[in-house]
Parts: sequence; structure tokens; C-alpha cells
Amino acid sequence: LRKFFVGGNWKMNGDKKSLGELIQTLNTAKLDANVVCGSPAIYLDFVRSKMDAKLGVAAQNCYKVAKGAFTGEISPAMIKDVGVNWVILGHSERRHVFGESDELIGQKTAHALENGLCVIACIGEKLDEREAGITEKVVFAQTKVIADNVKDWSKVVLAYEPVWAIGTGKTASPAQAQEVHDKLRAWVKTNVSEAVANSVRIIYGGSVTGSTCKELASQKDVDGFLVGGASLKAEFVEIINANV
Ligand code: 13P
Repeated sequence: LRKFFVGGNWKMNGDKKSLGELIQTLNTAKLDANVVCGSPAIYLDFVRSKMDAKLGVAAQNCYKVAKGAFTGEISPAMIKDVGVNWVILGHSERRHVFGESDELIGQKTAHALENGLCVIACIGEKLDEREAGITEKVVFAQTKVIADNVKDWSKVVLAYEPVWAIGTGKTASPAQAQEVHDKLRAWVKTNVSEAVANSVRIIYGGSVTGSTCKELASQKDVDGFLVGGASLKAEFVEIINANV
């Protein structure tokens, strides 16, 4: 029903040589999932030109308007112009290192979708929020701002990435991930529609590795992964095929 979806988020890592080698590995591997790799902006054109057409490429961010005096930013139109069809929005590093607000992430989501990009929309609670028992409140509020800006849900993948699990080696347990994914799907059912709740991929991110991926993938509402560190290694192939 929901095709397994694995995103790689390379963040600010790699160079032409190492990414070229990684792409070669991915191009020749047998991959049984939808795969999208999030490249640094400067390498998007290069990566798209090297990556097999059946594999997707994503920008890691974009701005909320098409062009103009916005030094340092890139637009969905530019991303599309180099043949790239996806963008990651609302990543926790954009939210917490670069101070992006829910409002801005909503505006970016609307603009990216209106301009023909597909969006991996990220949400997730911080450790203090989990400890305060407000995980649901936080992720529902983040999801609402995204949902308010989506018309066609076939273009959106939701990525649940608990901030305390990102880059820490502390993967959420399969039960912890399943619990939040289940609640998110219920939220979508109530606030969007039952059809969208059944079809939208909700993927998990946060310290996913070759050794944690299988059990996470076996959870009913975990439809794939968004992978940081491990997406730069050959291990990524194993994670992509976690559901096989
Ligand atoms: P890690 O897999 O390195 O924890 O990063 C997760 C992430 O932020 C993916 O977007």
C-alpha cells in the first residue's frame, strides 16, 4: 500500500570525489524502495547528472519565493532547473541551528509544492519536550503548519525525527517510533482525511544504522527512513533494503 521510502540527508558533507563514489555504489546496487538523496546545494547539478534516473535527488532547503534580493538562498525554480524534484524542509537543524520558524517552514512548503517540487517535511520534539510529556503537542503543532500548506499529499512525505536522536547514536526504540507514527497518522486522519492517512508515508529519522533499521522497518506505521550519517556509507544500501 505504502511504498517504502528512504531518504539520505548528506547535510554539509562530501565532495565531488566521495559523492561520486557513493553514487556509483547506489547506481549499481539493487534497491527495493523509493530513494531520494539530499545533496548540498552546490552539488545538486553534479549529483543529478551522475545519479541513475530511478533515484531521486533532493535539496536540503529552499526559500519561499522564486527569485530576488535574497543573498545566499536558492529557489524551487532553480532546483527544478537542474532536474531535481525534491526538497527537505523543516529539518531540525534548520529549525534549531538556523532559527527557522514554523511560519517560515509553512510558507516554504506552500511555495515548493506550488512550483512542482515534492517535499520531505520534517518534524520532531526536543529532549526537554519529550521529558516534559509534550511530544504529541509539539509534533501535532508542527504537522498542522505543514498540513495547512499542502493541497496534494501525494507530493509530501512526513519525516518524524526526534531531535534527541539526531546524530547522537540514540536511535528511538522501535516502540517509541511506532507510537509517534501511529499518533501522527491518527492526526492526519482526523485533520486531513482517512485516504491521506492511509497513503502518506511517515518515515523515521535519527541515528538509523544498518543494525537498527530492520526492527524499526517492521513497525506498522514506519514507512521508511531519513538517514544522516549512515547515508554517506555503503551501509546505506542495507538501510534502503531494510523492508525486504
Ligand atoms: P543521523 O542519521 O546522522 O542521526 O541524522 C538524521 C537526520 O537528521 C536525517 O535528516
